[in-house]
Amino acid sequence: MHVPHTFSGSCELSVVIPLYNEEPGLDALVERVTKAARASFADRYELILVNDGSKDGSWAAICAHAERDTRIVAINLSRNHGHQLALTAGLNHVRGELVFVLDADLQDPPELLGPMLAQLRQGYDVVYGQRIQRHGETAFKRGTASLFYRMLGHMVDTHIPRDTGDFRLMTRRVVDQLNAMPERYRFIRGLVSYVGFNQIAFPYDRDARFAGETHYPLSKMVALAVDAVTSFSVVPLRFASHLGMVFGLAGLVSLIGIVWVWMQGGTVEGWASLAALILIMGSVQLMVLGVFGEYLGRMYMEAKHRPLFIISEVRRHPVAANAETGDTEDKVAITVETELREGIRVAG
Ligand code: UDP
Ligand code: MG
Repeated sequence: MHVPHTFSGSCELSVVIPLYNEEPGLDALVERVTKAARASFADRYELILVNDGSKDGSWAAICAHAERDTRIVAINLSRNHGHQLALTAGLNHVRGELVFVLDADLQDPPELLGPMLAQLRQGYDVVYGQRIQRHGETAFKRGTASLFYRMLGHMVDTHIPRDTGDFRLMTRRVVDQLNAMPERYRFIRGLVSYVGFNQIAFPYDRDARFAGETHYPLSKMVALAVDAVTSFSVVPLRFASHLGMVFGLAGLVSLIGIVWVWMQGGTVEGWASLAALILIMGSVQLMVLGVFGEYLGRMYMEAKHRPLFIISEVRRHPVAANAETGDTEDKVAITVETELREGIRVAG
């Protein structure tokens, strides 16, 4: 069972925020997002907070907020699934006609909802934040991120805009398309580009983290980059044949050279360079195998068709929950759906 996707009259905007160990900044987050949402939508919005297996007190803090505020939907994943899958879980529960996605650390200013909405209403389906500046991020992170987007641009057919994260405002039809994509290795900003319709960049300055530390160390950034490339491009697979051609040609040229020298009555020495060549060839072949392995491994994991995420609990206020069914009877207690719910593969 999963939450129906029918639009409820009382919810025009769904804000989706994945959180991992974000307790220190949570109050400020809820306050600023609530204020921004109210400014444009009064109480016709919901705030979906997805706890991605936090080890700190994030879940208790989220529950406390949900207890006080009927607009808050609290989703607890069974364990840490990673940012992109936590976001996917949130996107699977939206009821609004518009969906606003942002990070929990207030690097993406919630107050930009107003201007982004104004832009969306000019006839767009996606208004995506594009970073002009990144305060509080190291030169290394800025450099690698910029290099990554430039490389990606050369490798993929889908136009994935540079310097964007998951900070964006989307219409429901875009999110429905995302929810219908069954893949496990999700590079969501790329999937959004893939969906198409009218999309426009919204340049903004990225703030420093409000509290805590980044959960994207270099290893996770590299993993995300490999996901991005493998899910949108088979160009790396073609490197094998290109490399093969280059080395084959080089071999042919040197063979012709050797024969020519021999015909002149000379001899060609260089057993040391031969050994070096063998090492280089071996390494190139292993590298190509490794690239094939990345794709093969992903195919293997996808073929298992495991659920994308597992939810242990959803808390939403009955007034807000009942708005969907038209039952407006007020209840004081918060509804707690504790049955184990699996991430669905296809929205329906
Ligand atoms: N996040 C998550 N699960 C994880 C890691 C991160 O839900 O396993 C959330 C995190 O709480 C934040 C967002 O993903 O809301 C982006 O993470 P972070 O700010 O650490 O990344 P950065 O901005 O440094 O790239
Ligand atoms: Mg951040």
